[in-house]
Formats: sequence, C-alpha cells, structure tokens
Amino acid sequence: MIADQTPDPNADSDWGLATRAIRVGHRRTAEGEHCEPIFPTSSFVFDTAAEAAARFAGDAPGNIYSRFTNPTVQAFEQRLASMEGGAACVATASGMSAILATCMGLLRAGDHIVSSRSIFGSTTMLFDNYMVRFGIQTSYVELDALDAWAAAMRPNTRLLFLETPSNPLTEMTAIAPLADLARAHDCVLAVDNCFCTPALQQPLALGADLVIHSATKYLDGQGRCVGGAVVGDAKRVGEDVFGVVRTAGPSLSPFNAWLFLKGLETLELRMLAHSAAALEMARWLDTQPGVTKVYHPGLNSHPQHHLVGDGKQQRAGGGIVSFEVEGGRAAAWRVIDATRLCSITANLGDTKTTITHPASTTHGRLSPEAREASGIGEGLIRIAVGLEAVADLQADLEPGFRNYELRGA
Ligand SMILES: *Cc1c(COP(=O)(O)O)cnc(C)c1O
Repeated sequence: MIADQTPDPNADSDWGLATRAIRVGHRRTAEGEHCEPIFPTSSFVFDTAAEAAARFAGDAPGNIYSRFTNPTVQAFEQRLASMEGGAACVATASGMSAILATCMGLLRAGDHIVSSRSIFGSTTMLFDNYMVRFGIQTSYVELDALDAWAAAMRPNTRLLFLETPSNPLTEMTAIAPLADLARAHDCVLAVDNCFCTPALQQPLALGADLVIHSATKYLDGQGRCVGGAVVGDAKRVGEDVFGVVRTAGPSLSPFNAWLFLKGLETLELRMLAHSAAALEMARWLDTQPGVTKVYHPGLNSHPQHHLVGDGKQQRAGGGIVSFEVEGGRAAAWRVIDATRLCSITANLGDTKTTITHPASTTHGRLSPEAREASGIGEGLIRIAVGLEAVADLQADLEPGFRNYELRGA
C-alpha cells in the first residue's frame, strides 16, 4: 500500500527541473524507505469482493493489474510528465510502442500523417509498412521547410510528427511555427524528444501537443534497458493512448521503470556534460586530416545554430556528433575499426561513447538514392559522445586520422 508521506507529487510547479527529476512521483510505503520502491507484481489484492468490483468498475481508485497500472511505473510517469510540463504520461515497453500506441490511440482508417523525412528508421517502417495496412497514409517533408509542411496538409491530416535534431545529421527546426500550423488544421503535433530530453528542450512549452520518448536512450542513460513514454494532455494521453496501452499491453515493466527513475535523477547533469563533450569533440574533429564536414548543433557553422543556447528552443547542442571523412565507406570503416575505446554499436544516449557508420547500419535499408537524398553519405560517421574523458576519446580516434596525415605529407 502506498502511504502518502511525501508531498503531493503534482504540487511542485515551482520546483526547478533538477528537483522535479529527483523528488516528483516518490511516495514512500509504510516502511519509510529512502529510495523509490519497486513493485514486481502482476496483480493487486483487494480486501473484499466489493472493493474488487468497485476498482474494476472505476468507482474506486487503486491498482488492479500491472498491464493497466503499477506504482513504480506511475512514479516514472509522474516524474517525466512533470519534467516535460505535461498533464499526463503513459510509459510503454519501448520507444516504438510509444509511437504505435500514439497512432492507435489518436488515428483511424482514412487519416493522414505528415512527418519529417529524417526520422528513426523503425518509425518510417511503422508508418510505411504497417500503418498503411490500416488505411493511414504518411507524407514526408524536409524538416526545416515550413512551406513544405503547409503544402503537405490535407483535409484528413491528423498528426504532424518530427524529430529535432534529426539523426544522424542533427538537422533542426523551430517547433513553435509547426505547432501553429497544427492548431490551424486541428491536428496534433508530436515531437520525438529522444535526442534532447526535457533537460535540453521542452516541446510542450513551445506549443507541441505530445512528446514521445525512447527512454532506452538518454532517460536511462546507461544503456541498460528498453522503454518509452508519451507525454501530453489528460484526454489524448491519459485516456486515448493509455487506453491502447492498458488494452493491447505494451506496458513498461516495473524493473525498467525503476531504472528510468534513477536515470532521470541525473538527466540534466548528464545532458549538459554530453553536450559540452560533444561540442569539444566537434571542434576537434573539424581540425582533423581527412574530415571534410562536421555536424553538431552547437557549432557556429550549423544552419540552425540560432535555435541553440540558454533561453532558446534547445538549451545545448546535445551529445550526437556526425562527421564525413574522405574516401567513402572503406575509409569510414577504417576510422571506425581503428578505435579501441568507442563501442561500435548503434545505440546512443549511453555514458559509453558509441560509434556508427549510418549508411551501412541504421540507414542501411534505405536505397542508395534515398540515402543520398537524406545527405547520408558513405563517408559519414556518427558518434554518440559519452561521459569518458574527452582527451581519451580524441586519442582513441587519432590513429584513424593518421593515414590521411601520412598521405597528405
Ligand atoms: C531509439 C529511437 C526510437 C525507438 O525507441 P526504442 O526504445 O528502440 O523502441 C525512436 N525514436 C528515436 C529518435 C530513437 O533514437
């Protein structure tokens, strides 16, 4: 049983982000434990048959079954909702099931989605291979082309979907004008905030209706487990998306929710550290032999750099740096294979730095033409900068650049 020994987790509107990340959603049990408890239970017991009936009928509050609600999962949901500034949050088994539940909860056959082109590969597959089977079409537009978004709107458009910054090229767009466009067409604007997290960017405050997370990435922050979440208003998220999750069952496990609760506590510190390290890496990469282009929102050369900084849309540049090397795929693979410290893996948001060749992994299923159109060349390398010492990361990459130096000499 939850004994309310701590303040109402929702009575916290004056708390700063760091305080909410540590304190919201924590209700102690009668044991008085200092750390958030885990409730690894599939179902909950009632005192009487009448109480069971009242809970099932929705006449009495309380848990019934962990596919519906679980106190550890609810603690994570309350904390993330507070950090994103949303009234409701529904946690899911993965980031992809957060997107699926959003589509199933808010759309019906005959509806239309407008999405930015450079989105997570599985999201594209969900829209193009699966949502179409249920009569939902998707149009893709360039992220930063507001005119293209407006031109793509149809009378049946119900959802605008985007990621900013994008993966792997860190393209960005201003969220507020797209929120205005969505409102003018009676549509929902959903922002996949995986790359920024609420520590760097809060789309709801900029007018977006929904924030979607792969908690697998920075919210956990230590590469331990898979999960997701949708944050927004009480009707769309608290009723419509929650209804899909409790019925269809992509519910978050209480163990994973507990890990994410721990992750949120250090989120702001980590995101600022990832951002600072990534910017330092980006500037350094820009000076390396063989590197022809570097992508990071914190660089002055980034086309939407004006959106980055304190008080701007995105507080800092984030942890992702991509760069192009001369010599195409073979050269990029040589640079990657010369590293010893960086992990060759496609995951991101981890304390451990990861290095990826997008053209042959995350974006390998695109046709060469589609990749070319998205600007993802064979020489492109993506680094998700972790929290190791920057000097050690530079020393790890240096051997890969030495070949270029020798050739140039
Ligand atoms: C990883 C990722 C997802 C999918 O999340 P999973 O937890 O892997 O299901 C969605 N969007 C973005 C931007 C991601 O990086």
